[in-house]
Amino acid sequence: MFPASSAHWRQSHRAPGSLHVPTTARNGIPVNLNAPDRTLRIGGRPLPVVGPARMYVCGITPYDATHLGHARTFVWADIAARVLRHAGGDVRVCRNVTDVDDVLNQAAHRAGSPYDSFAAVQQYYFERDLETLGVHAVDHQPRAHNHVREVIALAQGLLTSGSAYVRDGAVYFRGADVPRRAGLDDGEARALLAEYGDEPDDPRKEHPFDIAVWRPSHSGEPAWPSPWGRGRPGWHAECAAMAMTIFGPALDLHAGGTDLRFPHHAYESAMAEALTGVHPFSRAWLHVGMVRRDGVKMAKSTGNLVLVSDLVPGHPAAAVRLMLISEPWREDWDYTPGLLDHAAERLERLHIAAGRGGNSPAAEAAVTEALLDDLDARTALGIAEQEGGRTARLVMAVLALG
Ligand code: ZN
Repeated sequence: MFPASSAHWRQSHRAPGSLHVPTTARNGIPVNLNAPDRTLRIGGRPLPVVGPARMYVCGITPYDATHLGHARTFVWADIAARVLRHAGGDVRVCRNVTDVDDVLNQAAHRAGSPYDSFAAVQQYYFERDLETLGVHAVDHQPRAHNHVREVIALAQGLLTSGSAYVRDGAVYFRGADVPRRAGLDDGEARALLAEYGDEPDDPRKEHPFDIAVWRPSHSGEPAWPSPWGRGRPGWHAECAAMAMTIFGPALDLHAGGTDLRFPHHAYESAMAEALTGVHPFSRAWLHVGMVRRDGVKMAKSTGNLVLVSDLVPGHPAAAVRLMLISEPWREDWDYTPGLLDHAAERLERLHIAAGRGGNSPAAEAAVTEALLDDLDARTALGIAEQEGGRTARLVMAVLALG
């Protein structure tokens, strides 16, 4: 019933009689040597794990309501964790909260609230929105302000190895080669560093591509004591410190929006690798594409936000979730209200398909194979709609569209 051209279909039919041949290992535990490979592949690269997969998701800076761009990243990270679990793997998910940040400080100041209580309220709304969208609770949720000590330890370690230096109460990481390793030329790197507040033209730095692991706080900003005076962590250092605190020197999968690829993730990785000597810091990356509106990236600064809470009263939350995973995770796409209507109609068709009888082990295997192949939800949903029955129920359960 589902497309005969599907590589997954052909693969699952290559040796139909040989999938369940038990044998016995020396320790007496049955081993199925012909069991299908249930390893997740990201961008074509297999990600085999022994024990729990370590997954770190760059979380929000809690200063505003959850828009579709945020939501898409967290829904895809949730899909990755669910697919790993569906394939029989174990996974631990850490999603941090960046509650020490310039934009948060400014928003809290405007609201007349202390930064930490302002962040806590915004965090509550964020979690409510993600729960509405069916995002599973994470195992770890470190908050940056609770990990200042670890950022100081990171800075000290980088100083000890000569990867950082102190200037005027700040600790700078030597990042001259980070843009080149990220595939950027100097002009692109300089523009992005400036855009994200890493001040490439700051004359105190030895090189424009060095970034602050620690910086002095201005008056009114949160500040902590350190060997270099009162100050606060740099953003990239916060994530490096939180990830290493939770998972040790390396990760299996790191998720975040494509706009975090540089400088944030490039410097987070470079600092962790310089500290530990473990390369790569993350074995795979889930850089989720942007949601645009009329061709412009959805962002607070452009004022073109569509909030989750704007859509859910009028549409099933599962339709919003389905819309967010309808395009492949790495691609950017444009939100239009018509897409949400389309997703709501498709959700209804999926419910009807799931209500039909019938089961097809081959179709279920093809669905699992599709999801393990770069989280190909589009193929899995196509098979579910056509095949119906138990296959459709399986897809809706794994993708949490129920
Ligand atoms: Zn981060």
